[in-house]
Amino acid sequence: MATHEAAEPPRDCPLCPRLVAYREANRAAHPDWFNGPAPSFGDPEARLLVVGLAPGRTGANRTGRPFTGDYAGVLLYETLIKAGFARGRYEARPDDGLELVDCMITNAVRCAPPGNKPESSEEATCRRFLGARLDALPRLKVIVTLGDVSRRNVLRAAGLKAGAAPGGHGAEFDAGGYRLINSYHCSRLNTNTGRLTAAMFEGVFARARALVES
Ligand code: SF4
Repeated sequence: MATHEAAEPPRDCPLCPRLVAYREANRAAHPDWFNGPAPSFGDPEARLLVVGLAPGRTGANRTGRPFTGDYAGVLLYETLIKAGFARGRYEARPDDGLELVDCMITNAVRCAPPGNKPESSEEATCRRFLGARLDALPRLKVIVTLGDVSRRNVLRAAGLKAGAAPGGHGAEFDAGGYRLINSYHCSRLNTNTGRLTAAMFEGVFARARALVES
């Protein structure tokens, strides 16, 4: 079983050579950026965990806070505020004062991958931190997975097969003591094409609210 100390990787985590090389290239080109494994953000007593894919190069990799600074963060944080899982105002900066309430956000893969596409070996390597993250949340009840990479890694981290839960927006599954709700990822592509609307996304977090309170 993972320890709580391992829930967050070290700033210079050396375990994925390709991602370390990308991190170092970004550090050389943009020394003012965060350029490290994006730490989980939120309430250590959270009953809701939101799991994304991986930091965007100019999002969390730049700012150091999940979903902060890229397009996906606008919809995610506005939706969390509406559902009562965040308070304050999202201004795309880690010092905007936004607070998560009964909620934490993390990523399945903590380092930014080239093209937003982690390799399966990188997902497997980083899963130790995801598993430790789940273990370190004593009140965790509901997990919202954003997209397929998130879903399969949460399932594996919970000791289940990657294909154990159904895909599709709004699908639910009992996973090792947690209730999983699957959502399409709040990426610019999904919202621009209408695959994910604000109402669909709000529906997921309304359901999460109901499950957290049940
Ligand atoms: S992706 Fe995860 S395991 Fe790989 S180097 Fe980054 S923090 Fe370490």
